[in-house]
Amino acid sequence: MAKHKTLFEDCDVLVVGGGMAGTGATFEARHWGRDMKIICVEKANIDRSGAVAQGLYAINCYMGMQWGENQPEDHVRYARNDLMGMVREDLGYDMARHVDSTVHMFDEWGLPMMKNEKTGRYLREGKWQIMIHGESYKPIVAEAAKKSADKIYNRIMITHLLMDEAQENRVGGAVGFNMRTGDYHVFRAKTVIVAAGGASHIFKPRAVGEGMGRTWYAPWSNGSAYALPIAVGAKMTQMENRIVLCRFKDGYGPVGAYFLHLKTYTQNANGENYEKKWYDQTKELVGEYIDHHPTPTCLRNHAFIQETIAGGGPIHMVTTEAFQDPHLETVGWENFLGMTVGQAVVWASQNIDPKYTNPELTTSEPYVMGSHATCSGAWVSGPEDLSPPEYFWGYNRMLTIDGLFGAGDTVGGSAHKFSSGSFTEGRLAAKAAVKYIEDQKAEGIKVTDKQCEDFKVAIFKPLETYQVAQNEITGGTVSPSYISPIQGLQRLQRIMDEYVGGIATNYMTNGNMLKRGLELLAWLEEDLEKVGAEDLHQLMRAWELKHRALTSQCVTEHTMFREETRWPGYYYRGDHMKLDDDNWHCLTVSRRDPKTGKFSLEKVPVYHIVDENEKKKAS
Ligand SMILES: Cc1cc2nc3c(=O)[nH]c(=O)nc-3n(C[C@H](O)[C@H](O)[C@H](O)COP(=O)(O)OP(=O)(O)OC[C@H]3O[C@@H](n4cnc5c(N)ncnc54)[C@H](O)[C@@H]3O)c2cc1C
Repeated sequence: MAKHKTLFEDCDVLVVGGGMAGTGATFEARHWGRDMKIICVEKANIDRSGAVAQGLYAINCYMGMQWGENQPEDHVRYARNDLMGMVREDLGYDMARHVDSTVHMFDEWGLPMMKNEKTGRYLREGKWQIMIHGESYKPIVAEAAKKSADKIYNRIMITHLLMDEAQENRVGGAVGFNMRTGDYHVFRAKTVIVAAGGASHIFKPRAVGEGMGRTWYAPWSNGSAYALPIAVGAKMTQMENRIVLCRFKDGYGPVGAYFLHLKTYTQNANGENYEKKWYDQTKELVGEYIDHHPTPTCLRNHAFIQETIAGGGPIHMVTTEAFQDPHLETVGWENFLGMTVGQAVVWASQNIDPKYTNPELTTSEPYVMGSHATCSGAWVSGPEDLSPPEYFWGYNRMLTIDGLFGAGDTVGGSAHKFSSGSFTEGRLAAKAAVKYIEDQKAEGIKVTDKQCEDFKVAIFKPLETYQVAQNEITGGTVSPSYISPIQGLQRLQRIMDEYVGGIATNYMTNGNMLKRGLELLAWLEEDLEKVGAEDLHQLMRAWELKHRALTSQCVTEHTMFREETRWPGYYYRGDHMKLDDDNWHCLTVSRRDPKTGKFSLEKVPVYHIVDENEKKKAS
């Protein structure tokens, strides 16, 4: 242990993760906390980290209130519809009413936005999306964070939250290690804002072997946003609501601009509109939800998956019509330049020119996130002026641990925030965190040296394990006394894939499979005590895996609890194939007891605030 220096930092606001939400939080914390010490800690380098690392072609959440384009209420209805009713409308409304101001700042900061030269309005790709030249998106928001923070620590992975030993259920900071130097870092903080992104690679990806690691979602998003709070007993919500994406095959290139802007459409191998074919069957499962407009994302996936199972694949996107227009052809290609150049490379390698050949689509492996067309994450307090009592406990975006806040993918129940909404939510969380400190709620926090030392031993244990056990390697990487991070990861992915509704079973699971999945996950957890790391990079992999494994347990527990198929196309409970509004028109909330490791689950009412308020106004 002596070879790993321990470095201490005391601060007021600690932001974990410098992606979209983390940069938003760091920026806003400075606005409200002029004299406060604000630290942001990032696993990679904030200039190019998180899901927006490569850039984006569109900002997917912008109301356009100044032009009367959309109102926050409209966005709440949209997200509610897409998530089959299951959203926290207070959180969604709160984000939507502030998101335009965030986008206007991006514009001021120099993000190239596409505008109508005559009206000055942002060019829209769809009702909610505006178009940008977004390769530089992340460096631009990172600069705002860098100017705001007292210090940004890059290359430090946060592995655990510190808890206050003077007052129960209050956070005291976080610890982690520097992946370049091997130093151990202790951040004692009055408040912590977790903004560490969602979880990829917990389900086995389609690309294994030759393309291992190629997924739609960033492979470095390892579920820390969930594992950190779960480990200290914070409540989580909607963790069953994983997302499956319909994307261009193999490259996972985005399809949104193609559908919305280029007006492309899909068809089966016989050139038929297969979605119509599955209308009656889907109505049987979900009732009138299939008649909603726009069709919820999961239900469109459902038709795709069923058509493929029935032998109608491959499914193609018809691009050959739109691409005859030179302007649309340019837009189609440029769409990849700012965010997924790899898709163009894949097409080149497969001899596909979308002007002459309709490219194939696929459905992805499932991911867990809180900011896209999905809403897994932490159970947080909403804003004072909107939230019903069950959703409000003092500070906006505070988890059920005092002083612990969340934003972006971390926060559950509030889908369709995307990049701009995540940045906005970071701002909201930071404002509340500063108020929490100003209200003297963070006085007298005690974090003992023992707590810090215990974590230090735990963090570097995989290095020790490897050092001892490497002598017992029997061949290649096979050892009787440790497992490597990649072996553990593949085992995790296989459990999740085969038992919890991954691609192996066409997203199908049931109570018995989930029970078995939980048993296997418990044994994996036991074996992960023996994970070995040969260097600091593998140490990061070991901790990423542990965070993924804990996140997976929570996902599986939630999936077992919700005895219905609420989102066909995201996953199916074969033993409860129908949507069941009588019993399950509710949010699911879990808590893992940090002492026993046991999860308990409950149903919490879902309040449809927007239309209820309107009904009240009318009466
Ligand atoms: C493939 C894809 C395409 C998308 N396309 C669009 C789009 O076109 N338009 C749009 O508006 N939105 C889009 N989004 C959504 C948008 O990217 C997310 O909503 C947003 O990035 C979420 O912000 P976040 O801060 O929660 O997570 P991220 O931005 O992913 O940031 C999380 C950060 O935490 C860091 N981190 C993780 N673990 C740790 C740890 N243990 N310790 C320290 N740091 C850690 C990560 O390195 C990362 O920097 C897309 C998302 C994906 C995945």
